[in-house]
Amino acid sequence: PSEEYENLRRRVYSNTKEIWYFVNHELTKLIHDDVQSEKLQAILDQMADRKRSLLSDQQKLQELDGYHEWRRTEAANVSDLVQRRLKYLQNPPDCRDARKVICNLNKGCGFGCQLHHIVYCLIFAYATERTLILNSKGWRYNNKGWEYVFHPISDSCTTAYEDKVVQWPASYDAKVVSLPFIDSITQKPKFLPLAIPSDLAHRIVRFNGDPSSWWIGQMLKYILKPKTAMQKAINDTIAKMNFKNPIVGVHIRRTDKVGTEAAFHHIDEYMLQVKDYYEQLELTQVVDKRRVYLATDDANVLEDARNKYPQYEFLGDPSIAKTAATHRRYTPLSLTGLLVDLHLLARTDYLVCTFSSQVGRVAYEMMQTNRADASDSFYSLDDIYYFGGQNAHDRRAVLPHAARAPHEISVQVGDLIGIAGNHWNGFGRGTNKRTNTNGLVPWYKTADHLVLYSFPEYKNVPQ
Ligand code: GDP
Repeated sequence: PSEEYENLRRRVYSNTKEIWYFVNHELTKLIHDDVQSEKLQAILDQMADRKRSLLSDQQKLQELDGYHEWRRTEAANVSDLVQRRLKYLQNPPDCRDARKVICNLNKGCGFGCQLHHIVYCLIFAYATERTLILNSKGWRYNNKGWEYVFHPISDSCTTAYEDKVVQWPASYDAKVVSLPFIDSITQKPKFLPLAIPSDLAHRIVRFNGDPSSWWIGQMLKYILKPKTAMQKAINDTIAKMNFKNPIVGVHIRRTDKVGTEAAFHHIDEYMLQVKDYYEQLELTQVVDKRRVYLATDDANVLEDARNKYPQYEFLGDPSIAKTAATHRRYTPLSLTGLLVDLHLLARTDYLVCTFSSQVGRVAYEMMQTNRADASDSFYSLDDIYYFGGQNAHDRRAVLPHAARAPHEISVQVGDLIGIAGNHWNGFGRGTNKRTNTNGLVPWYKTADHLVLYSFPEYKNVPQ
């Protein structure tokens, strides 16, 4: 399929949802105002039926347009190429000689945040053709280091020897540079997310609707390889569960996050999306049981969900949630449970979560590596997808808009809009970079602006 065709197909799908967000929001407001609420609810229910039918047909179209198998094969091929390039970068012929970048795994944050820290380091390494050395002694999840839980990120090159280490930003000639945390970089290199390599971009966009998270997922795929003991612990826990498709993944992040970095979301908000997913799925297939894999750091949620939604089958391990909920969170004890949760969330057919959580975003990134395209297989109750510390995320106006209310902004076709978020009511907030005005713009009049960067092309690695 051509890039244009794929973009158009995804645009129709996304804008079908945007119509729904708009109508749903406006009519629900009227219901709350008690204006003929029963009549309005009936209209909304009918609209929802029609929306599900439209989306379901569009998904079928994608399966029947003759490129379904091609997308799968191409995704596997490009993934394989990236993995081989990373392997090449991480195993230089002469380690002593190789240029290196040092990444210290001493960030005081949760596991999702630490994974993203290594992803950032690996992207840096790939962009500057330096082998990544991971310093992880004293790591909060295993005092002895990363290599005691996961396969080392290099088989042959794990030290900078006695070479002088220079703190980045450093000159290109420096043989070994050490990286600060992404949050404290003032002049951000252009290759940081959400940029993707230009030599692969035109291949990726033809099988994936969200290339930036696909690219980040590829870094995770390279990094996150549990060693035998850890893999066995994960497998044993999974074996105890009746994990079968179709299944929806729900990630509920509570405890310390609520009120500090994210708002509280009631179980009903997640289940509304789960119900919507199953109602759409049931248009085309018989669903024997509405299964949900529930991952959370709140020890009470699982039981609560089971009591409240008896018609659903909830999978999940209360002891994992319990460990995550207590102060044992950042210790080796909690790691197996979190890895089980991440692996299983990434294997579900649809993910309902909050992208304000790094755990939610990691699950989605891993999902992107498990299939050709997971970009329409999630629902985030809050943020749109992002990478902490990323460069500006813009959308480009593809239709003109004249502001109709004081909080709206006007745009011309071609304008770049720095995006703050989607309000899931048909509008998003952003700043028009031409006019320097900030406000709401109808989301469907904009399209994601993908940033390409000329990463090295690793010509030594066979295509
Ligand atoms: P964030 O704070 O949600 O953005 O993500 P972090 O990964 O930085 O920190 C959250 C920590 O809480 C994780 O590392 C886990 O230890 C714990 N946690 C959060 N959600 C879950 C979950 O669904 N399952 C488990 N097992 N642990 C979780």
